Amino acid sequence: MTEQEIPSLSQYDFLQTDALIDGHWQAAMDGTTFAVDNPATGEIIAQVANCGAQETRLAITAAANAQAAWAQVPAKQKSRLLRAWFDLIIANENELAYLLTLEQGKPMAEALGEVRYGASYVEWFSEEVKRIYGDVIPAPGIDKRIVTLKQPVGVVACITPWNFPNAMLARKIAPALAAGCTVVCKPANETPLSALALGYYAIEAGIPPGVINMLCGKTAEIGDELTSSPEVRKLTFTGSTQVGKMLTAACSQTMKRTSMELGGNAPFIVFSDANLDAAMDGVMASKFRNSGQTCVCANRILVSADILDVFIEKLLARLEKAVVGHGVAPETTIGPLIHRQAVEKVEGLVERAIDQGAVPLTALDKATPAGNFVAPVVLKDVTPEMEIFSAEIFGPVASLVSFSDYEQAIALANQTTAGLAAYVYTTDPQTMIRASEQLEYGIVGINEGIISNEMAPFGGMKESGHGREGSKYGLDDYLDIKYICLGGLGP
Ligand code: NAP
Repeated sequence: MTEQEIPSLSQYDFLQTDALIDGHWQAAMDGTTFAVDNPATGEIIAQVANCGAQETRLAITAAANAQAAWAQVPAKQKSRLLRAWFDLIIANENELAYLLTLEQGKPMAEALGEVRYGASYVEWFSEEVKRIYGDVIPAPGIDKRIVTLKQPVGVVACITPWNFPNAMLARKIAPALAAGCTVVCKPANETPLSALALGYYAIEAGIPPGVINMLCGKTAEIGDELTSSPEVRKLTFTGSTQVGKMLTAACSQTMKRTSMELGGNAPFIVFSDANLDAAMDGVMASKFRNSGQTCVCANRILVSADILDVFIEKLLARLEKAVVGHGVAPETTIGPLIHRQAVEKVEGLVERAIDQGAVPLTALDKATPAGNFVAPVVLKDVTPEMEIFSAEIFGPVASLVSFSDYEQAIALANQTTAGLAAYVYTTDPQTMIRASEQLEYGIVGINEGIISNEMAPFGGMKESGHGREGSKYGLDDYLDIKYICLGGLGP
């Protein structure tokens, strides 16, 4: 796509740059804005309201005022509203994907996939809202009955990262609303426009004022208000483990419930009996999607020593076809990283790994467009002593570690504080079952590199956090169980 062919964002009604508070779009109270740029070009694409503590308090009040009425909206009506929101997102999916590529950088095909993936959670919870059941439990005496109700936790704060600016937020708002909660959302400052566009379509769909509120800007001020407010009853966060720990500690002061979707360090284990072509499909999808900037990215590729050479040969052949470039260009398969610091972090990890003995198998000086681009890198002889083994790389770097037997593979895979996703490639059913049981991860892909969908529970173990998004379990994080003891019933 040439520059002339790139449509101007200003033509889209969904392009909102103010905060959404109580159903109205509002500028920051001090009138300031912050710039959002295109990571592929550095061009500033919008100025967004730079909100802080005052606007956050207004948003919390709006959400608190709307909560009781929203909780009482019948399930079937909530379902219709969520469905209307889903329909609007899908009807505008190409335009939303284009906006996403402009602010986040990922190739258009991936952006479209993200918009559909985010919408699938809205659709799913538009259905699940009709299935929030309580129980009648056997009582200890004939004069009693035990009944449970599931009730919304109340106002929920949702904080989300820049790597999936549409889907990570949809994955929180949809179950919260289905449960009868109202939300105050703080999307990442790098990518607020996709989030605000979701807010625009929620209002268009008829979701009442105050049920969804959104603001960005002065991050620490917003975070302090959200975590300290007694009116906010739950915080759901997707982002780095470091910030997640800090927010969890802050929430303890008001005993808020928390859901934490944090960083990963996924092992991708290839046993010697694996179908290597399937493993290649998996590694390309799980390692290089979003330029390696996903929480479930294959961070350590563990390959049985006896097939390492052929694995490398096939991987390098696949990477020959990779095209690094601007996400709107149809031929691009790897877009830019989100900003310059991300590029420097990835380059530093690679340099230090090489200093410690890792061997680069790709040209490190491969030409890329100017800006935040990194060409794919393959490193072999990576060992647990290297920083790159334990750090979340968040870039297009395939870090290869070889192993000699099953026990060593599993021990290496579990040698991390993270526990989000793991991948195993094998044709042996016994290895499939043993590995899936012994890997300390919330998600295990067996012969599959694309593991997330709205029908399955997404979430981590260990320092990758707690809580599950999607699936029949996805409402639990937004519901309190109330037990009612009915006594004096005779005889
Ligand atoms: P991040 O730096 O932790 O930021 C995430 C969000 O937290 C952003 O909205 C950020 O706002 C906000 N934030 C930062 N400090 C805050 C504070 N003091 N109070 C309130 N909010 C605060 O993470 P990131 O770099 O955006 O995202 C990448 C990380 O997310 C990776 O570690 C990745 O693995 C993880 N992730 C996890 C999952 C999962 O499902 N487990 C999914 C996707 C990503 P600003 O943008 O304004 O700084």
